[in-house]
Amino acid sequence: MRIACIGGRAWLVTASGKGADIEQASDGRFSADPQALFGCWGDLRAWAAGLADDALEPVDASLFELPVPRPRQIFAIGANYRAHAAEAGVAPPEQPVIFTKFPSCLTGPNDAVAIRHERVDWEVELVVVMAREARDVPAADAWDYVAGLAAGQDISERAIQRLGPMPQFSMAKSLPGFGPVGPVVVSVDEFANPDDLELGCAVNGETMQRSRTSDFIFPVGELIEYISHLVPIYPGDLIFTGTPEGVGATRQPPVFLKPGDVLATWVEGIGTLTNPITKEQAQ
Ligand code: ZN
Repeated sequence: MRIACIGGRAWLVTASGKGADIEQASDGRFSADPQALFGCWGDLRAWAAGLADDALEPVDASLFELPVPRPRQIFAIGANYRAHAAEAGVAPPEQPVIFTKFPSCLTGPNDAVAIRHERVDWEVELVVVMAREARDVPAADAWDYVAGLAAGQDISERAIQRLGPMPQFSMAKSLPGFGPVGPVVVSVDEFANPDDLELGCAVNGETMQRSRTSDFIFPVGELIEYISHLVPIYPGDLIFTGTPEGVGATRQPPVFLKPGDVLATWVEGIGTLTNPITKEQAQ
């Protein structure tokens, strides 16, 4: 099952470009608000599986909006790929490195990202969308608590991140528009192996990152186990799972995003975010 947002309403869509407005097609059984669907994910999947093909109409993927508009919490993981930890010059962590991205930074899969800083960097990430409330969940059971997966960008301003004696991850990665997510949320059952997905990003068509989630230091199950021992994770919450090697800041010389660039970000089996970078206008 693939969930998109069009015109502020939840749509069931297919990989072949068809779809249905969920509230209308379910005669009001399910909400038009995509954020409300993750808490009744099993029921939604059962209904979607029985929906007739002739209930679907062609949809235009360029209209897709942020499919997870209001998560209560967003967890993000630092240094979770071996090759990225190496390029950043840090030892592989012994427990997950966790910060937050504020929900106000989220933006859609086709939205422009307006920037006003000089050292804005890309970070392709697999984004986990939670279904059931998770407390003290063992890693072996963790996928049962996940609704689906999306592609994401943990856009980061490296100068702000490195201001002062301690890293400022949460501020530097939560500027407006610094969290594109989408283009759809794909339910876990659609992946042959959700622990081994190719992902990457390109700037103006040039591939900058390409890796596989099998390079994770802490796979999704271990992240959910670790986080859910500390705090509850709620339906619709997001986990940005970390970025692989190939960020701009560690290149020689460093490369950063600038107005006029187009940032494309993909995850195997999910789709591609296409975010033009623009210059923020003075207020
Ligand atoms: Zn990141």
